[in-house]
Amino acid sequence: MSDSASPYFKKIEHIGIAVRSLEEAIPRYERLMGSRVYKREVVESEGVETAFLQCGPNKIELLESRRADGPIALFLEKRGEGMHHIAYAVEDIRSEMQRLNQEGFQLLNNEPKAGADGKWVCFLHPRGASGVLTELCQDRD
Ligand code: ZN
Repeated sequence: MSDSASPYFKKIEHIGIAVRSLEEAIPRYERLMGSRVYKREVVESEGVETAFLQCGPNKIELLESRRADGPIALFLEKRGEGMHHIAYAVEDIRSEMQRLNQEGFQLLNNEPKAGADGKWVCFLHPRGASGVLTELCQDRD
């Protein structure tokens, strides 16, 4: 790894894409990427169902809303289907949350939450990242 690499963000863990229907989006993405969804998972706390595809060391997370008033439903209403967030892998989510809080970034949750695909996650407000909703995630071992 070069010296110019972020010492905190290890890689882009995944990119989240808001879709109206997983039933439609999954075959489309499987055709696009030439690979199969390896996991589908409901995350009740977020009101979403997710589907994951692997892309090298990174993943694509398709997100469908399970609640009319959930964050993905509101996003689709406002912006339509499209890129929803970027998730970065971190080694120690609590120390990252503390660092970013001290740096003036607005955390959207004060405690790490259990996210999809075996991760602890925390979201940062898009205004701190040039309009991009940003997720930190750490393996939940
Ligand atoms: Zn995510």
